[in-house]
Amino acid sequence: MVTTKTHAVLLASPGMGHLIPTVELGKRLATHHGFDVTILVVIASTDSSDTTKSSKVQQTSNINGLKIIVTPPSVDVSDKIDPNHSSPLGARIILTMIESLPFIRSKILSMKFPPSVLIVDIFGTMALPMARDLNMSTYVFFTTNAWFSAVMLYAPFITNEAFSRHAIDHEPLLIPGCEPVRFEDTLFHSPWGPTHDGFVNNAKEILSVDGILINTWQDLEPGATKAVIDGEILSRFARGPVYPVGPLVRTVEPEEKRKSENENLILRWLDRQPAESVIFLSFGSGGTLSEVQTRELAYGLELSQQRFVWVVRRPSEDDASAAFFEAGKGIDGLDYLPEGFLSRTKEVGICIPTWAPQTEILKHPATGGFVTHCGWNSVLESILSGVPMVAWPLYAEQKMNATMLSDELGVAVRATAAEGGVVFREEIADVIRRVMVDEEGVGMRVKVKEYKVSGEKALSTFGSSHESFCQMAKECEVCGA
Ligand code: UDP
Repeated sequence: MVTTKTHAVLLASPGMGHLIPTVELGKRLATHHGFDVTILVVIASTDSSDTTKSSKVQQTSNINGLKIIVTPPSVDVSDKIDPNHSSPLGARIILTMIESLPFIRSKILSMKFPPSVLIVDIFGTMALPMARDLNMSTYVFFTTNAWFSAVMLYAPFITNEAFSRHAIDHEPLLIPGCEPVRFEDTLFHSPWGPTHDGFVNNAKEILSVDGILINTWQDLEPGATKAVIDGEILSRFARGPVYPVGPLVRTVEPEEKRKSENENLILRWLDRQPAESVIFLSFGSGGTLSEVQTRELAYGLELSQQRFVWVVRRPSEDDASAAFFEAGKGIDGLDYLPEGFLSRTKEVGICIPTWAPQTEILKHPATGGFVTHCGWNSVLESILSGVPMVAWPLYAEQKMNATMLSDELGVAVRATAAEGGVVFREEIADVIRRVMVDEEGVGMRVKVKEYKVSGEKALSTFGSSHESFCQMAKECEVCGA
């Protein structure tokens, strides 16, 4: 078949938080920039959830120029993870990706229209040598913001002494052109070891690619985007350009395509609530709270006296990301909620076990606030819905995201944990009321709506992210020719 189109393969590492923005990137490349796109979705051994296989992924495969292939689940890698690893979640994703490489290679080699571009997320860099071997140009897609991307990209240039001052003496980590990273928000709890080495080695790989895409836009993060685009050090060492291409977020499904009865039930319930009167609570695809924390949250919601929709998960005592590989799997009972909670709140709230149509809920006019774990997709979905947030970070770079939302952008208040790490009911009621009822919430709502407009503008014709895409597309044509 003779075609002048550029065929790009996008590799999505395990987890809905990686898959959703990768699918959105694929859609954008196919519908606005004339690419043929194949998305290879890598799933972990237990990540065979309804959600991963579900309509959310499959429905997109009928878009012109976009095809999705889900890899068979990899072998179970859990016994290969060092039990003392500081990031078992990250380690598991990386090992799964390594296991999937032979499948990825053979899929690419068997494609009738050979692809000339490979785009991976930051967990997929082990596929880059294979892509070069196959004469493909290489891109990395950061599914997070420019500030965290900067931390990662500058990691190889941070001295051991500076890392020690940060990790041991708890001084802020200084990244050229960016806000310093407070120790309380850091991922570096030791100046050496697997987390540090993993970061540095991965950053070196990323700096060698033909281009870097970041799911943010210039007006949201002017300092950090400048730092990664033309920072003095990076522009000397990065091989290719850096493109802010966001905000890429999942769009609302048309009503006739919504199959789940549960989803429709929630949205019909929201239809009956007053405008901006409901607080939505969700901790991402995998966020999990302890039993004490779940109970405090239930009582805090009651104390706040606000209407609510809460995505609840069975508590887990020692792993805040316990459900990460099982997003939406199974329907769980709600027996772990405090006695009488469901009957006392049945007129004002809904509890949904494990998974809800988040974009649709955030976009609904009745939703007025969002208690979020600050995963970057959730943050962008909230901003693009004009909904202010209560920032309640759990793992990965979420504490940095929370600081950005509350201290820099002024679109969130932060839930403060007491000693021992629990956020108690009075604090929960207070932060919810600050967003939903107080004057402070009114100000945050105004700001978040301004960012919504600026995000939409970035992706419209002549907008900064649209222009990034155009340049990237041109570059791919040249490289792939
Ligand atoms: N999500 C959803 N329903 C849920 C929980 C999560 O649709 O009940 C989606 C959410 O809209 C977002 C993604 O899953 O697009 C989670 O990504 P995020 O970066 O916020 O967090 P992660 O799950 O990666 O920690």
